Amino acid sequence: MGPVLHVRAFEDNYIWLIRGKSPDKVAIVDPGDEVPVIAALEREDLAPVAILCTHHHWDHTGGIAELCERWKMPVYGPAAENIPAVTHQVREGDEVELPELGLAFAVIEVPGHTRGHIAYYGQDMLFCGDTLFSAGCGRLFEGTAAQMHDSLGKLAALPPETRVYCAHEYTLANLRFALTVEPENKDIQAHYREVQRLRAQDTPTLPSTLVLEHRINPFLRLDQQAVRRAAKQQAGKALDSGTDVFAAIRRWKDHYRG
Ligand code: ZN
Ligand code: FE
Repeated sequence: MGPVLHVRAFEDNYIWLIRGKSPDKVAIVDPGDEVPVIAALEREDLAPVAILCTHHHWDHTGGIAELCERWKMPVYGPAAENIPAVTHQVREGDEVELPELGLAFAVIEVPGHTRGHIAYYGQDMLFCGDTLFSAGCGRLFEGTAAQMHDSLGKLAALPPETRVYCAHEYTLANLRFALTVEPENKDIQAHYREVQRLRAQDTPTLPSTLVLEHRINPFLRLDQQAVRRAAKQQAGKALDSGTDVFAAIRRWKDHYRG
């Protein structure tokens, strides 16, 4: 069994359980619902030692209070968002140390989906909530296109071997859109076939890796000619900056019905 377990919640959320040096202890990322988490902890005989929260949306926070009633543990979350259950507010430059697991995560501020959204990065693992998805990115609910473009740039600059643990199983639909943007992209075509196969067996398509995302994710491919051309055609005007290209692709996807 890998060091990170997934718990399914709601329609398509993943709640990640991070294991470290101790086989029976985990940190929980974004528990939107306590019920499937408690079931998984009991089934696998695991004790949680901390909760890491990326942003304030209910599908990432709804289970925190119940879990903390059962297990006393620190709850890390963004300093720029008001999440009542958070006990340790963290910001860019902070490190979340989990000595029971022998792990530590750097906090990266990634505003865009929400104003205070953060990601956790360490040991070649990235927990990015609703900021970066496989072949896609989060919607702009509170932040601006410039902020999200900048946030994705920070994540894209992490080492290529980084494993990307997104909070939703959106990969198949995202790839359909990616193929609309770049119909000739052989990597997207191949990964689309692979993801169709995985989803037909109800297998998660995550974690992804940054090296794969650089090949298939239109939001990390804004400097590619094909992506710029498609964005410009969709916008019906010249796009000057990378942020303009990002905003055009994001807007396109907001209205896309694949
Ligand atoms: Zn969200
Ligand atoms: Fe979400």
